[in-house]
Amino acid sequence: MARYTGSVCRLCRRENLKLFLKGDRCYSDKCAFDRRSYPPGQHGQHRGRKTSDYGIQLREKQKVKRLYGLSEKQFHLFFVKADNQKGITGTNLLVMLERRFDNVVYRLGFVNSRAQGRHFVRHSHFLVNGNKVNIPSYLIGVGDVVEVREKSRNIKAIGDSLDAVVRRGIPQWLDLEKENLKGIVKSFPVREDLVTPMQEQLIVELYSK
Ligand code: SF4
Repeated sequence: MARYTGSVCRLCRRENLKLFLKGDRCYSDKCAFDRRSYPPGQHGQHRGRKTSDYGIQLREKQKVKRLYGLSEKQFHLFFVKADNQKGITGTNLLVMLERRFDNVVYRLGFVNSRAQGRHFVRHSHFLVNGNKVNIPSYLIGVGDVVEVREKSRNIKAIGDSLDAVVRRGIPQWLDLEKENLKGIVKSFPVREDLVTPMQEQLIVELYSK
């Protein structure tokens, strides 16, 4: 499926949750969800139909997929990998999504959204253990050191994001050395680290049909 190029604020309104897809704007009074917290479209304010079980599962999958900015194909591939691992499939899925390189640079505060993270990773602005990595889906491991490349240290967007990261905080599984523009992965994230409300079991049920 083609990449979604429409308004991302529509996605928050559709999922009835702030997905924080637009960086600083999400924390300002310009946030479209704060202004109009009902589904988009002509009938957004007048929907009264009961949602089916399938509809509820589908919405949950769409929400998580949109939060991490993945296409259906990419998301399903992650699900298949999670299902092949030992443990609880839903938890495996969320932990793997969280370990994506574009998400890790976002969590460390080097960028102000996952979309910007993807863009900056593709342009090779970051190193992993001293090596250039430009694959947004690259899975970060325990002990990995993620840092901003020497030649990219003056990029204003990176400095601004680091100043603003206080608002969302750094998760416990990561350690940020702000002055060195460097982050260390202390452990894998656990389910409790993920604060966005997500019911991963519904996604497992949807894909198990
Ligand atoms: Fe969602 Fe951010 Fe747009 Fe608000 S500003 S609706 S949180 S993407």
